[in-house]
Amino acid sequence: MPTNNKDYYKILGVEKGASQDEIKSAYRKLAKLYHPDLHPNDKEAASKFKEVNEAYEVLGDPNKRANYDEYGSANPNFNDFFGGNGGGFSGGFSTEGFGGFGDIFDDLFSSFGGSNSRRRGASAVNVRGEDIVVDASLSFKEAVFGCEKTFKVNKVEKCSACSGTGAKDGREFSTCPDCHGSGQVTITQNTLFGRMTQVAPCKTCNATGRIIKTKCSECNGKGSIRNVQEIKVNIPAGINDGQVITMRGKGSASIKSGPNGDLIINISVSPHPLLVRDGINLLLELPIPFTTAYLGGDVEIPLADGSKYTLTIPPLTQPNTIFKIKNKGVKALQRDNYGDLLVTVRVEFPKDAGRKEKELMQDLVQSDNSYKKVKAYKDKMAKL
Ligand SMILES: [Zn+2]
Ligand SMILES: [Zn+2]
Repeated sequence: MPTNNKDYYKILGVEKGASQDEIKSAYRKLAKLYHPDLHPNDKEAASKFKEVNEAYEVLGDPNKRANYDEYGSANPNFNDFFGGNGGGFSGGFSTEGFGGFGDIFDDLFSSFGGSNSRRRGASAVNVRGEDIVVDASLSFKEAVFGCEKTFKVNKVEKCSACSGTGAKDGREFSTCPDCHGSGQVTITQNTLFGRMTQVAPCKTCNATGRIIKTKCSECNGKGSIRNVQEIKVNIPAGINDGQVITMRGKGSASIKSGPNGDLIINISVSPHPLLVRDGINLLLELPIPFTTAYLGGDVEIPLADGSKYTLTIPPLTQPNTIFKIKNKGVKALQRDNYGDLLVTVRVEFPKDAGRKEKELMQDLVQSDNSYKKVKAYKDKMAKL
């Protein structure tokens, strides 16, 4: 049983029964209060900031919170969870599966304004790049056999000319003249109560302590570039309508030094005019005239690859008989076996008949005594 002595409720200053909203707002206040941008080189503030984030990563997530309430730990691997971080809040958080930090930090930094401060704040928190969602419309054949698709995506990439810093060659910075590199300024005001001094983040440099001397000309100082790009994707054989392919890391670059977003492909597949997919099997309803069922005969049926296959119906085929054509179904996704094509015979009777047909049928009625079930039925009726 993992042990963890930290009282996250106490750290955030909330009651045990606090709502998620109360926890979020307590977290915002404290994260703002101890944010490293406001306390450069202040170890105590940095460790408070780390602690507050730790607490929020657990209490801000209802599942982890429930675990913590019950076991005193967010998850069984708790001790590893924040591991490897050493001193200070220098990254190592995973935001996967937990969307909380992104918007909170966006909020937090929007109050400081400016993209520099956002970028710097983000060096503390890994925020993933945007996911890019695209739709892929496949023909039936493409889905069954796989295909290659090219998507045009508009994605953000880190500017390579300046390594994402926004400064020419990634080097052309100078120390902020207003805060002399500390990132904070002291404001002195005369008030009714006398002179008051207050420490505030430096607006000139967005609390980073440095300003761009010469802007990177490639990205105009933004550090990132939006590009339309073509991405080729191999769609695997056996994909089906409604499935989603996630290409890890193929989305936009993070503008906050986090991992790339994902490329998410929503698959839609056009139906085949005759074949229906049932998992890896293909189903076909095959109408045949009763004469073919009786006498037998060859019937053409469609295969998924667009070719045609000749199915031989043996004489005296019963209605609803299913013929299995081995391995002519769909390939199993990520495996090497194929499904089958299952053909269900639907015997059709004529809706009207001429005199000649009727006469022929009369002869058949006289001679035929092979209807076992009909005979059994008649026997039972006779005994009533
Ligand atoms: Zn400054
Ligand atoms: Zn650049």
